[in-house]
Amino acid sequence: MHASSLRSACEDRLGRLDLRHRFTEVELIQAVSDEVGRRIVCEPQDMKGSFACGLRQQYDDCEMIFYEQSASPLLRRQIIGHELGHILWDHQGSVSRADFRSDSELAAEIDWSSCLGISARTSYATAEEQEAETLGTIILSRMYRAALTPSTRPAAATERWDAMYT
Ligand SMILES: [Zn+2]
Repeated sequence: MHASSLRSACEDRLGRLDLRHRFTEVELIQAVSDEVGRRIVCEPQDMKGSFACGLRQQYDDCEMIFYEQSASPLLRRQIIGHELGHILWDHQGSVSRADFRSDSELAAEIDWSSCLGISARTSYATAEEQEAETLGTIILSRMYRAALTPSTRPAAATERWDAMYT
């Protein structure tokens, strides 16, 4: 997909979520969870020395997102946004057991018999990785832009006051 059409497809996908102007990370995760009808659990992990700084595991009724525990808030949001991108695009994931080091604690914790698919945040060579990273980047820029600008369509009273005075 061309970069600009991928971008607008991501904007579209994000626009379907029920999010207020200034949404928090928790609200974002809840909105994606509501959209896909599965619980989403985000957990920090020691992923140094691993092949990825973020990982998403899909199960029947829930999604697990792991992010590198030492990541800055900015990087953490980018990782989580990327993995939420995989969830929203309903990617099947291409990560297998062979991608993990044999002594990987993370791999040992994965329930391989019930796990439906694993995606990671690694390189952006594949279409799935580009789709997830673009969506993650748009999420991040919306979060930071919203912190500086008032809503163009203020919904809550606080947003209306904000729009009047900024
Ligand atoms: Zn990925």
